[in-house]
Amino acid sequence: MLTRTRLIGVALATLVALPAAAQVTAVRAGRLVDPEAGTIQANQIILIENGRITAVGPSLPIPAGADVVDLSSQTVLPGLVDAHNHLALTYKEEPESNVYYFTYVMDSTPLRAIQAASNGIQMLASGFTVVRDMGNNGNYADTALRVAIEQGWIPGPTIVNSGIIIGGMGGQYWPTPEMAKDHDIVYPEYLDADTPDEIVKAVRQNALFGAKVIKICVDCKPWGYTVDEMKLVVAEAAKAGFKVEGHIQTRAGASRAIEAGLWSLAHDGPLDDELHKRMAAKGIWRAGTETPLTLTGHTTQARYDRSVKGLQNAWENKVPLTFSTDADYYVPGKTRGEAAIEFIETWKAAGIPPADILRAMTINGFKCAEVEETRGPIKPGLAADLIAVTGNPLESIDALRDVRFVMKDGVVFKRDGVMTPAAFFHGGPVNGWRIR
Ligand SMILES: [Zn+2]
Repeated sequence: MLTRTRLIGVALATLVALPAAAQVTAVRAGRLVDPEAGTIQANQIILIENGRITAVGPSLPIPAGADVVDLSSQTVLPGLVDAHNHLALTYKEEPESNVYYFTYVMDSTPLRAIQAASNGIQMLASGFTVVRDMGNNGNYADTALRVAIEQGWIPGPTIVNSGIIIGGMGGQYWPTPEMAKDHDIVYPEYLDADTPDEIVKAVRQNALFGAKVIKICVDCKPWGYTVDEMKLVVAEAAKAGFKVEGHIQTRAGASRAIEAGLWSLAHDGPLDDELHKRMAAKGIWRAGTETPLTLTGHTTQARYDRSVKGLQNAWENKVPLTFSTDADYYVPGKTRGEAAIEFIETWKAAGIPPADILRAMTINGFKCAEVEETRGPIKPGLAADLIAVTGNPLESIDALRDVRFVMKDGVVFKRDGVMTPAAFFHGGPVNGWRIR
């Protein structure tokens, strides 16, 4: 029991231990873009304290002693979102002939986790402050990446990860009986779930091992999941607070996924005008992963032409669009972030106005990733994630190809086009080891 004297002592110690006024950072933005409104305002000041935005306005007084970041010759905007990537997967011409099936054999999960750390840094350098990491990450390398970033070991985007993709036996590929028998060759990529019990167990396993969203193979096999089976996934995922993305590759599968009310659909292949109308009516996110022709070898002219037409049709039908790349391969001469940005080529070819492309890359991405209440928009109370470019992305989306400045959680990661990540590296879990 504390005596009165000791209580006073504790109170005094608490007073003495109070920190000095928190360091304030003031960002002078020459122009500030609001992607939701599609507007741009000159000469704005953004005040930041403890990693959060505290005020935004044209003539805010800058507190004495504030660290001033002068971006008065640049355009400041929210960070970007890639709503579909696989940071712990990098297939390559050598040695896998660009077949990701072989990457699962060639690269261990620990090696892939380190690749993911590097890919995350590369994404952040290109302005991606949020990445939905949708499976094919070995044995939960995606969770390791998210936790390492959140605990404060390394810089990286905010990761919303799916854990292991859930599908009928075999997942996206056709293992030999030998591969499937003991689940020991190339098998961490998919969780077998053919029955209702297995579906429930698979969702719970992913939740246990750190997933934040659930990804399923809707129709990777001709039998695929039924509407009722997908509704079971949605209901079980909801218990953990998660949404469900469906990988679709057939029209029938896509139709069932829309009927079941999945949160988002990955890949544009089977989506047509009628399905787009149904997606728009239900507000289902489209993560189209429309590969540009400029990433040579990763699409064909015919496939690209279909992607362009499909994206245009989705936009005309007002389907909620996310910028999603599936850029999970090595493009010689490009970082992972530069490969992801390249996907604006398909959006430009589809005739989508820059303001709408930017919405897909920011506000829609924040909503699809369900982070918009804590980070994304440049608003008081939200995490201080922001980027700057020299041009105006509302006039030319290509301005995003040259991200000069990146701030994540109020800490500068890139300045004048050069990465300055030192402040993100720590010898321990500075944000707390309990983050899992
Ligand atoms: Zn994918």
